[in-house]
Amino acid sequence: MTVSANYDAIAQCNKCGFCHVACPIFRATGHESGVARGRLALLRGIIEERIEWNEEMEDPLFTCLGCGACTTNCFGSVPTADLVLNARSEYFDKVGKKPAHRLLFEHLLPYPKRLHLAARTAALGKNSGASKLANALGLLRIFGRDLPKAEGIVEKLPMSSFRGTTKPQTYTGQGSDLKIGYFVGCGVDVIQVEAGTATFESLKKIGKSVTVLNNCCCGLPPWSYGDIDNTKVLAEKNLQIFAEADVDVIVTDCSSCASFLKEYKKVFADDPQKLELVEQTSAKIRDVVEFLYTSKFGVDEDKQQEVVDSYHDSHAGTEAVRQAVPKDGKAVVTYHDPCHAVRGQGIKSEGRDLLKNLPNVEFREMPEADWCCGGAGSYALTHYDLSQKVLDRKIDNLKKTEADILVTSCPACMIQLAWGIRKHGLNTRIFHISEMTAYKEGVSV
Ligand code: SF4
Ligand code: SF4
Repeated sequence: MTVSANYDAIAQCNKCGFCHVACPIFRATGHESGVARGRLALLRGIIEERIEWNEEMEDPLFTCLGCGACTTNCFGSVPTADLVLNARSEYFDKVGKKPAHRLLFEHLLPYPKRLHLAARTAALGKNSGASKLANALGLLRIFGRDLPKAEGIVEKLPMSSFRGTTKPQTYTGQGSDLKIGYFVGCGVDVIQVEAGTATFESLKKIGKSVTVLNNCCCGLPPWSYGDIDNTKVLAEKNLQIFAEADVDVIVTDCSSCASFLKEYKKVFADDPQKLELVEQTSAKIRDVVEFLYTSKFGVDEDKQQEVVDSYHDSHAGTEAVRQAVPKDGKAVVTYHDPCHAVRGQGIKSEGRDLLKNLPNVEFREMPEADWCCGGAGSYALTHYDLSQKVLDRKIDNLKKTEADILVTSCPACMIQLAWGIRKHGLNTRIFHISEMTAYKEGVSV
C-alpha cells in the first residue's frame, strides 16, 4: 500500500499537538519532525507532491519508535506508527534497501538454525573480545551507522541457544488436558535463554503437553522496517507450523512476538485465502503474561479480582530470583510495560497482579512505567544516541522506585533496560516475569 492510499487517515490529524506530551522522541529532542504531528505533515507533503522522496526522509521516518503512545493521546486516534511504517515500505521502494536488512531479513530470520549459528559466532566473538577488535577496525559499521557505538548493549551472549538444548518436539507436562505450543521468539532463543527455560518449565506444570515449536522469527523486525515481502515469507512459514501442530493454545514469552502474531491479519490484508487460517491461528495466541495470569486466577473475569486478592504463592521464582529475594524480608519489585503488551495487546494489570502475589515482594509502581524504553527492536543499533536519551528517562524513573528488581516481558526491553542499569551503575536486578513466577517445587529452573 502506498502513502497516498492512507491520505484520509493522515488527513485526520487536526494539528492540535496533544501527541507532543506522550511522544518519547519529541520529549528527548523537542523537534517537530520527531512527533506524530510532524511526521504526518511530512507524509501529507509527499502525497500533495510538495516534498520528494529522498534520503532526507530517513530520519523523520525511521526515528519513530512505533510505540503507539501518540495514538493513545490523540482524540482522533490517528494510527501514526502504522502510517509511518507503511511509508517506510515505500521509502525502500523509492530510495533503496540497505544490505544489512537483506542479510538479516532474507538470509537469517527465516532459518532458526542459521540464526543459532550466527548467534554462536557472535557469542564467540563477543566473549573473546573479537567484536571489540572488529569495532576498532570499523568492520561493524557495515551493519549500520550506530552499531559500533551500540556494541556494548548486550553484555554477553550464551554459547548455546534455548532450542540448542531444548529441541523442538513435544514434551509431557503435569497438567490434565491443555496441549500447549511454545513459540520461541528470537530474543529468548539466542539471548534470554534463562527466561525461555523458566517459561518452558512453567508451561509443563500447566499443560498436559508442551510442544516447543520449530518456528522462525515472527516477522516483526522486517514489518517494522516496512519490508512486507519478507514479513510474509516469515509469517507463512509460521502459519504452516501452527497448522501442523496439535495444540490448543500457542504461548510466547515475548510480548512483541505475541502482539504481532495476533496481528497477522494485517500482513495478509490483501490475501483473503490466507485470512481464514490467520483468524484460526490468531485466536490461539497468548502472551505468557495473560496465560500465566488466567492459569493462576481463572478465566472468569467477574471472579478474577476476588481470587487475585486472596491468592498468595508460596513457591515461586528461579534459583536466581530466589537469591535476589530475601527470605526474611521484602524485595522491592517494579514493572516495565513493553509497548507491545500495554498498547499492542491491552495487557496492563496482569503482570502486576502476578508479582503482588509473590512471597517476600513489595510491589512499587514506577512513574511512566508504560513509556517506551528506547529498545524498540533494533532501534538502539540504528539510532543509538536517541535511544539512550529515551532510556535515560526510563532509568531516572526506575531510580525513583529504589527497586531491587525490575520485571518485564519483552526480551528487547530486557536487553535495553539491563544496559541502562549497568550504564547508570545501579544494583537493580532485571528478570523476565516467567523467571519471577516459575513454580519451583520439584522443578529445577
Ligand atoms: S494528537 Fe493526533 S490530531 Fe493532534 S496533532 Fe497529534 S496526531 Fe494530530
Ligand atoms: S509512535 Fe511513539 S515515537 Fe512514533 S510518533 Fe508516536 S509517540 Fe512518537
